[in-house]
Amino acid sequence: MTKRVLISGGGIAGPAVAFWLRRFGFAPTVVEVAPGPRPGGQTVDLRGVSRVVVERMGLMAAVGERQMHERGLEYVRANGRRAAAMPAELFDGAGPVAEIEILRGDLAGILADATGDIEYLYGDSVAKLDEDASGVEVTFAGGTQRRFDLVVGADGVHSRVRRLAFGPEERFVQHLGGYMSYFTIETPEPLNDWMKIYSAPGGRWVGLRPDHNPRFARALLAFRSPVLSYDRRDAEAQKALVRERFEGLGWHTERILAGLRNADDFYFDSVSRVVVPEWSRGRFALAGDAGYCGSPLAGHGTALSLVGAYVLAGELAAADGDHLRAFPAYQARMQAYVDQRMELPPGGIKMAMPMTSVGVRLRDTSTRVMTSRPFSGLLAKMAIAKPDAIDLPDYSVERGDPVRIAAEQAE
Ligand SMILES: Cc1cc2nc3c(=O)[nH]c(=O)nc-3n(C[C@H](O)[C@H](O)[C@H](O)COP(=O)(O)OP(=O)(O)OC[C@H]3O[C@@H](n4cnc5c(N)ncnc54)[C@H](O)[C@@H]3O)c2cc1C
Repeated sequence: MTKRVLISGGGIAGPAVAFWLRRFGFAPTVVEVAPGPRPGGQTVDLRGVSRVVVERMGLMAAVGERQMHERGLEYVRANGRRAAAMPAELFDGAGPVAEIEILRGDLAGILADATGDIEYLYGDSVAKLDEDASGVEVTFAGGTQRRFDLVVGADGVHSRVRRLAFGPEERFVQHLGGYMSYFTIETPEPLNDWMKIYSAPGGRWVGLRPDHNPRFARALLAFRSPVLSYDRRDAEAQKALVRERFEGLGWHTERILAGLRNADDFYFDSVSRVVVPEWSRGRFALAGDAGYCGSPLAGHGTALSLVGAYVLAGELAAADGDHLRAFPAYQARMQAYVDQRMELPPGGIKMAMPMTSVGVRLRDTSTRVMTSRPFSGLLAKMAIAKPDAIDLPDYSVERGDPVRIAAEQAE
């Protein structure tokens, strides 16, 4: 019997799980709380093994068409002058700007298009999950009830599935001491493909990243803070909270705050790490940020979610849908890679977002030293030294992948 799988979350991990499950003969349904695919976000990376997954999905051409070509990261002073820079070529694609970069919203759109014939329930979410011996009775917030064989939580850092099936958020989510917001504005200056960050005292970042259209920029406002209490569904209240912390800071802050007022792709969240010791329980499994997330500081969230989605679906296919075998195999296959890619950079948020102007100057000076000869060669070697800690199986022909079978027959 075809297994019906409900996937909560239509971001990156959710559509990727749906894509592969469908390819392997399952019947996935995705429920996404937003009214459609969420367009926002900045540039994210497709590094190492995640690139192999995208190639196997047949989506490399679509990604290539939307690829960004950032030249690197530049720290600027309040007057806009360069304080330090990390050019992309210095790291050969392994530094803060990767070889394949794509706007997160573009990737979400590509995945939504590639799963266009799969059932999506937009504007709804799971409210109750009742597991029994043969399946899961799902009650949706909209009031309907449906039965599924398995449920995958791919609903991000604040996963509802995780809360309902695994336990309260506090048990799994660690606050790393900051918040980030992203949104699109008309650019206050030409960026010439550079990401620019002005670090203001108080641990605040005012940033601009290139958009496809040079008239626009992806703005970033981030700040250090202990846990704040706010309504996660109230974007206006979140905007007010951000505005309060950035007024009067200098550089392009006023123009960015003016753009914030009308931004319709505003995204705000804490800088958090998610550690869940076991990513499955009974008929429930977690994928992407819901199960493992190193935070934007660690920076591999998209890669982990694409690879995790592939391995989860692949192991289910390899076990002929037997979740009792597939879910532990998924974790065993992924664990070392997840641990490796959740590692935070040295100094964490304190180093990246100093509180004092002396701290900012120290960071800029050390960046200049590390990126100068003879240190830059060493830095590049350190950055590339670590291959992904995963042996990626090819869950294909013998698992009933019709696209691969057709391709091999055509050869
Ligand atoms: C709009 C947006 C912008 C982002 N921008 C960046 C960025 O610029 N840089 C970066 O490093 N990371 C960004 N992220 C996070 C990044 O996408 C993830 O870290 C990573 O790609 C893993 O993806 P994910 O699918 O696990 O989580 P996410 O991409 O966060 O997707 C989770 C999805 O689940 C949905 N959801 C949440 N709760 C429920 C619920 N109860 N029921 C149904 N659906 C639910 C959310 O609306 C979202 O679409 C962004 C996430 C979002 C949603």
